[in-house]
Amino acid sequence: MTTLRAVVDAAIADRATDHPTIRLIGGQAVARGPGLIALCPDEAAECGPATVISAGIHGNETAPLELVQRLADALDAGTLAVGAPALLVIGHPAAIVAGCRYLDTNLNRLFRRQRSVSVSAEHTRAEQLMACVDAFWAEQPMDAATLHLDLHTAIRESRYPRFAVEPAGAVVTPKAVWAALAGAGMQAVLSQTDDSWTFSHYSRFYHRRPAFTLELGRVAAFGANDLAALAPMQAWLAARIAGESAVTADVADMAFFRAGAELIRVSEDFELAFDDDVANFTAFPPGALLARDARAGPTHVSATPIHIVFPNADVELGARAALLAEAVSPPA
Ligand SMILES: [Zn+2]
Repeated sequence: MTTLRAVVDAAIADRATDHPTIRLIGGQAVARGPGLIALCPDEAAECGPATVISAGIHGNETAPLELVQRLADALDAGTLAVGAPALLVIGHPAAIVAGCRYLDTNLNRLFRRQRSVSVSAEHTRAEQLMACVDAFWAEQPMDAATLHLDLHTAIRESRYPRFAVEPAGAVVTPKAVWAALAGAGMQAVLSQTDDSWTFSHYSRFYHRRPAFTLELGRVAAFGANDLAALAPMQAWLAARIAGESAVTADVADMAFFRAGAELIRVSEDFELAFDDDVANFTAFPPGALLARDARAGPTHVSATPIHIVFPNADVELGARAALLAEAVSPPA
């Protein structure tokens, strides 16, 4: 008998399965394509709100995949029952097998509906994922309690190892979701103000579903992740699948930031004015030098202190070399 864990592991290994339907306590798992598994509760009328749980959009970020494996184990063992619809997504199997962030280009910038020619493995995969998410959200009632959680780990050190990125979009995040994020051990929130075309942005922008990119510590190899620190997150994901209410905590326990300007690399002759391994959310005072660019000139911090997030001098020309965030109050 095939287990859900076996199907998840086959997806992580980029191996095809024969698309079985697996009976679980409270519902069944149905394959929706490579690396795509829907959890369908038997009692559709009384189930909890739906969740998309995605992992491995970047192939070298393994902690989220280990969380999905543990959820699959709990579902197989019957210690976790299906009480709400969920879509489990193994994002980029080919990159996972290769052990790298991506093969040709960053998948997490390609979630945009445009009929361009598929020029890379990532473009093809983005099309598959968008089609599957479209079909899944079309089946779900418009309920503010539905949620897309796209799980990642960060390349670098962070002042807040676990933080949520709230993509731009017309949907207001429900207050209960902030409390659940705090309860799941998230330490900070970065709200974006511009469209980012990430996977979580896709669910917000096109489907008006609350959605987040969750950074869950640092990149590490399979088996080398600190899953103890992620136990509250695992518990929240399990509660979503079970259709049960989340453990909550005080929203003010989290630090809140709003994304402002982006530092764009304009020319080949570009350098950041700080160590390349500076931690995410490191603060820079007004007047501090941030970068030098042969064409754009120097960039300094203006009147408001900023916090550097996702710095990377080694990006393509015209791409973001760092995001400049401002500290803000928690949502009222
Ligand atoms: Zn990532």
